[in-house]
This record gives sequence, C-alpha cells and structure tokens, in this order.
Amino acid sequence: MSFEKLNLIEPIVSVLKEEGYERPTPIQSQAIPLILEKKDILGCAQTGTGKTAAFALPILQLLCMERDNLRLTRTIKSLILTPTRELAIQIGESFTTYGKNIPLRNGVIFGGVPQKRQTDKLQSGIDILIATPGRLLDLMNQKYVDLSHIKIFVLDEADRMLDMGFIPSVKKIIAAT
Ligand code: AMP
Repeated sequence: MSFEKLNLIEPIVSVLKEEGYERPTPIQSQAIPLILEKKDILGCAQTGTGKTAAFALPILQLLCMERDNLRLTRTIKSLILTPTRELAIQIGESFTTYGKNIPLRNGVIFGGVPQKRQTDKLQSGIDILIATPGRLLDLMNQKYVDLSHIKIFVLDEADRMLDMGFIPSVKKIIAAT
C-alpha cells in the first residue's frame, strides 16, 4: 500500500516523501479512506504508530478541497481536542509539517500559560484549532472562539480524556459545535 493509493493529493504526498514516510502505517491505511469519505470513525492504536497523521492528513485534504471549491473564509473548520499541553503542541507541529504546501492555518491553545498569544492567534484567523478542554472552554466563555463552523471534530486520546474527568467539559464543547 502506498500513500498515492490512498488518494491523497500531491501537496500532501510530496511532504510525506520529504519526511521519509515510505508507506502508511496500519491505522493510516485503515482510517484515511474512511475519513476522506466523511465517515465517522473510532480508531485505536498505540502511541507511536502514526495516529496523528491518520487524522491530520485527511483533514488537511478535505479542508483544502473545500477551500478550493467554496473559497471559504478563515473560520475554525476543524477542532482537535486533546488532553495535555504536550500533545496539543505536538499535534500542532504535525499539522504545520503535513500542511506546509496547503494554505490552511492552525492554532494551538492550552492552559498554564498567559492567554494573550493564543487569543492573538485566534483573532488573526485560523482554520484548524488544536486545544485542551479547560483553556478552550475558558476562551469560548470569553467569546474568543466560535465553533459554529466546525465540520470535522477529533477527540484525541478519548480514553485518557475519560480518565482525567474531562467529560463534562467535552460535552459542553461538543454542544457548541
Ligand atoms: P504518532 O503515533 O502520530 O505520534 O507518530 C509517531 C511518529 O511516527 C512520528 O514521529 C511521525 O513522524 C512518524 N510517522 C507517522 N506516520 C509515519 C509513516 N507512515 N512512516 C514513517 N513514519 C511515520
């Protein structure tokens, strides 16, 4: 199985070549076609098996194609919720790398740091938001975040979210999408 066989577009395939990815991992070859068909999926894979690219690549592709078709303005069209600041930063870096040939912008928000840089970024306009639940709710309450344009939602590490007691926050966030 190659990345081309997954029907990924050239701007994405060329980045994967540069990154030295030769073929999709199992979670990627199983998840990417379904996400490109806009199906809802539940994926389970161990850390380090390429889970981030399994959702980031098709999200970039779907939003890129929609942008070409509709000339969409910058609104938050995809939300990735993740339990920790470290994961949020890592996922943001992955979107930046995989999307470097695609005119979409991502922003990362997490708690434990002053909010100014994050709110500046939100106000400058982003297409993809990666967030931890607490800071996201806080910024939603302050009206810095509008989730009404969300088309694709990812709950990363859903099992850890449950363990960490994030479910009430996650429910409130989903209700706002
Ligand atoms: P993740 O499980 O998403 O944290 O990814 C683990 C590591 O595997 C990251 O450093 C990725 O850059 C790398 N990776 C993801 N997909 C592939 C692939 N298809 N081939 C080679 N490396 C990959």
